[in-house]
Amino acid sequence: MRKVLVLEDETNIRSFVVINLKRAGYDTIEAGDGEEALAQIQKNPDIKVALLDIMLPGDMDGFEVCRRIRAGNSQIGIIMLTARTQEMDKVTGLMTGADDYVTKPFSPAELTARVDALYRRAGGSPAALSPDEISQPPFLLNTRNRTLEKNGRRVKLTQVEYAIVKLFMDNPGKALSREEILEAVWGREYVGELKIVDVNIRRLRVKLEDDPQNPAHVSTVWGYGYKWDV
Ligand code: CA
Repeated sequence: MRKVLVLEDETNIRSFVVINLKRAGYDTIEAGDGEEALAQIQKNPDIKVALLDIMLPGDMDGFEVCRRIRAGNSQIGIIMLTARTQEMDKVTGLMTGADDYVTKPFSPAELTARVDALYRRAGGSPAALSPDEISQPPFLLNTRNRTLEKNGRRVKLTQVEYAIVKLFMDNPGKALSREEILEAVWGREYVGELKIVDVNIRRLRVKLEDDPQNPAHVSTVWGYGYKWDV
């Protein structure tokens, strides 16, 4: 659902990027040269962000790939992967179609922060939606009223359940550890047991799932925590 294209010919850098994006909850589509990248964009119109290396084998460099992607798609977010040795003047001058650039070597945190930011912009809520609402069909969360609807019907939640759903909807597709959920919802000072998370998840499933025994939205990540699927 959260698809990112990774165009990079050096396989070790590409797998580093892919591993870290996957960890952050993204689906990655890989390409080793420009032709392949453009073919993947054609095949996966739901790609929202593309990471493009500049120096590539073949006829097209990253700038050319960027131009061609941009020519057919104004919505996609594009981040150029640049090397420190490349003259920045040239890079920024040629970056007309790109939204951002990251200089190698970059940290996983830096990379995912940039992708997150662009993803939100490129793939964020449709303009018609008020900023107080998060729509992830069949769910609609209103952060001002702190209410949740499923298929247009109000689901009654406790404040704790609401906070968990909000955390999930802010992190779709991302595996969240039980510790992470505990800290985000109950706060750092909370000195209870992790089990409280499971108890609330169980209750949430009864409220949110068509079949709580076979959850379609709140899935278990064994030995770790939970993941929100929409
Ligand atoms: Ca390269």
